Amino acid sequence: MRFSVLSESLSGMEATAKRLDLTGILVDLFGKTPPGVLPAIVYLIQGKLRPEFEGVELGVAEKLAVRAIAKSSGASASKIEEAYRDGGDLGLAAAAVLGRKAQTTFVAEPITVERVYETLMRIARLEGQRSQDMKVKHISSLLNDASPQEAAYVLKLLLGTLRLGVAENTVMDALAAAFTGDKGNRPALERAYSVSSDLGSVAAAAAAGGLGALAEFRVSAFSPVRPMLAERARDAAESVAKMGGAAEGGRGGEFAAEFKLDGERVQVHVSGGRVQVFSRRLENITPQYPDIVERIPGLLGADEAILEAEAVAVNADTGEFLPFQELMHRRRKHNVDRAVSQYPVTINFFDVLYADGRSMLDEPYSERRRLLEEIVRRDGGEGGGRGTGLEFAACVPMSMVGDAGGVEDALENSISAGCEGLMLKAPGAPYQAGSRGSHWLKLKREYRNELGDSLDLVVVGAFFGRGRRAGKYGTLLLATYDDTRDAFPSVCKVGTGFTDEDLDQMYQLLSPRVTRRKNPRIDSQMEADVWFEPELVVEVVASEITLSPVHRAAMGAVRRGAGLALRFPKFTGRTRQEKSAEGASTDEEVVALYRGQRKVAAEDAAGRG
Ligand code: ATP
Repeated sequence: MRFSVLSESLSGMEATAKRLDLTGILVDLFGKTPPGVLPAIVYLIQGKLRPEFEGVELGVAEKLAVRAIAKSSGASASKIEEAYRDGGDLGLAAAAVLGRKAQTTFVAEPITVERVYETLMRIARLEGQRSQDMKVKHISSLLNDASPQEAAYVLKLLLGTLRLGVAENTVMDALAAAFTGDKGNRPALERAYSVSSDLGSVAAAAAAGGLGALAEFRVSAFSPVRPMLAERARDAAESVAKMGGAAEGGRGGEFAAEFKLDGERVQVHVSGGRVQVFSRRLENITPQYPDIVERIPGLLGADEAILEAEAVAVNADTGEFLPFQELMHRRRKHNVDRAVSQYPVTINFFDVLYADGRSMLDEPYSERRRLLEEIVRRDGGEGGGRGTGLEFAACVPMSMVGDAGGVEDALENSISAGCEGLMLKAPGAPYQAGSRGSHWLKLKREYRNELGDSLDLVVVGAFFGRGRRAGKYGTLLLATYDDTRDAFPSVCKVGTGFTDEDLDQMYQLLSPRVTRRKNPRIDSQMEADVWFEPELVVEVVASEITLSPVHRAAMGAVRRGAGLALRFPKFTGRTRQEKSAEGASTDEEVVALYRGQRKVAAEDAAGRG
């Protein structure tokens, strides 16, 4: 397949922000793609080479790209950098200098998607001393044969600067339309994607065998399952009411309350003595947990399993749980051994998704929990007690219809055990991979106060600080995630709660994400000083949610022409790097909080009156 077909589509996609147009371009592109090339196309349009969990990264620096462009075009590095400075895009700078050369030389054989993809894969795999020179060689060989437009896209792919604003849902819509004839079949793709986390192989299956082939997708070890997520409940009474509604078959009111531990969610895959650990975002984080990886096979009464757990940092002497931040020290590439001994963890299992060839996804929670306790032998860590061992998330089965008092007690117990609240789970519910629903509810103590509630929001822009904050991002523009539009509407500006250290860290985290233009998925009327790729998620609290003429979150959901905004937002000090932007608080959640606070205000007024 000619690479020019792909680069034409990419250029069309860059020029539009409308989801329908994007879908149309994709349907057309998929229609022109031979089946063998389809997975590559699906990864490339998402700016990837392979699914997230395989961790294949291109890692080409601008300097290296400049060297390759110089080699192919004969232009000097300073000339290329000048063109880059003028236009702000190295891909376009390359197109310009190579274009000048193209007028004078004979263009070789057209490049294909297959060749570009294979070259990019080869570059990603190169390591070691001579790798830089080899990379330059590979890139320049592609550039030699590329048209200026193709060269621009080869470079954007290499540098990770392709900004299409196309989300997984849009890709799935287009795949459903192209290969099953109906966009309405997206759920079949979502299901396959939820159990495989590999959109490339889902696309290949859809193209080869339509709905029938999609139905064949099964859970298997080392393909992470997209996590089931919880809705929040405001207080014990609301959670009991919601559980009554969620539990089906006349068992209203029966549920289990597990402690909600404050750590990192891990999905542990085991097969044939091999162990891999995946994060909530499905990255392979096995190297962060060598201590766990070593112990698990010996403690498992199954040869193959997929288990879910919360990893929590602990004080090895007292067994006390430590704050979530402590765990993030393990997120490093070097000196992992030191981090492992300095930051011991306990792994608290709460679910089993697969065991010895049997998918547990459609089994009820009660059965999954039973099996979990059957196949995992807890080890309580060295010296016994809670220590640094493998545990189960404490679980209190409840069968008291409508009894909010029992939930209150369990909540108090969980807080005094160093947890952040409860996870309430309906016993009859299957594991709903990749979706947030009311079969799991989270109840945190803070939700019970005013809005003291925390929200996880996406940093989309920033305003430069003054005085002590000069040169740093003094105020951040934050957005929710609107999953129906697949957009990030702004919900507040936040400038409080940052220590000097936080500000430095923010600058480091955000500056690589700066974009020249606002990403089309960002919906904001404000003009930020800088825009970011919507990726970083931070936690904020606020005093209240109000209607807003400026912010765009939940636009029109409460009142026509008005959005919702956070009042007096404050950064809690916590960045949520384990969350993706699509995992941030949604418009729906913000509307629910807005309505909840109105209800409480009305009840308070009635109580006083
Ligand atoms: P939060 O920001 O509140 O941690 P989240 O968006 O990461 O939530 P949710 O599904 O909304 O994810 O909340 C459940 C989260 O709580 C899980 O992702 C998991 O990391 C954590 N957790 C802690 N203890 C448990 C438990 N016993 N069962 C399920 N999840 C638990």
